[in-house]
Amino acid sequence: MTARIGILGGTFDPIHYGHLAIAEDARHALQLDRVLFVPAAQQPLKRGAHIASPEQRFAMVQLACASNPAFEVSRIELDRPGPSFTLTTLEALQAAQIGELHFILGEDALADLTRWHAAERVVALARIIAVGRPGSAPDHTRIFQALPALSERLTVLPGPALDISSTVLRRRVAAGQPIRYQTPDIVVTYIEQQALYR
Ligand code: ATP
Ligand code: MG
Repeated sequence: MTARIGILGGTFDPIHYGHLAIAEDARHALQLDRVLFVPAAQQPLKRGAHIASPEQRFAMVQLACASNPAFEVSRIELDRPGPSFTLTTLEALQAAQIGELHFILGEDALADLTRWHAAERVVALARIIAVGRPGSAPDHTRIFQALPALSERLTVLPGPALDISSTVLRRRVAAGQPIRYQTPDIVVTYIEQQALYR
C-alpha cells in the first residue's frame, strides 16, 4: 500500500505548539503514516524577516519533533541553494517516491496559496490540508476562482485553533515575557541557551 505522507513547511522561527498541533490533527484526520516538517532556508514571501539562523531553526524543529515517532524533520530546503519554493520540494519528494503527498498549512497560508510560485503545479503534486487558525477566515470561493484545481484537492480541518504565532513568541522573548506552554520546554531551553530573539 502507498504510504500517506504529510508535509508541513514553514520558517519555524521558532516552532511552537500551533505547528505541532496542526501536524498531529492532520495526521489523525487523514490517517497519515508520517509528517515531514520542512524548515525553509529562505521563505520567498518573507525575505529578510528571520532572526534565528537556518541551523538554529532546524535544531528547534528536531527537538520539538523528537517525542513523536510519526514526525520527521527534513533538510531538503536547507541543503538546496536559493529561495525555498514549495514546488521544488514537492517535485523532489515525488521523484523519491515516498508516497502520496499531503501538504499541510494554516488557513492564513491558504489565503496566500494563489500567489505561490506555480500554484497549479503545487496542487497537482500534493493534496492540500488547510487547518483553522484564529484570526484567519479565508474566502474559499475566491480562492477556488483563482485556483480551480484546488476545489478537488482541498481538505479543510477546524483543528485545535491555538492562537500562537512565532512572531508573538519572538516579541515576547524580546520583552522578557515567558513563552513556556506555547512551545515545548526543550525549545524554550534552546532559545535561552542560544540567546535567541533578545
Ligand atoms: P510567523 O509569525 O513568523 O509567520 P507562524 O507562527 O505563522 O510564524 P510559520 O512558520 O510561518 O509560523 O508557519 C508554518 C505553517 O504553520 C503555516 O502554514 C502556518 O499557517 C501554520 N501555522 C502556524 N501557526 C499556526 C497556528 N497557531 N494554527 C494553525 N496553523 C498555524
Ligand atoms: Mg506565518
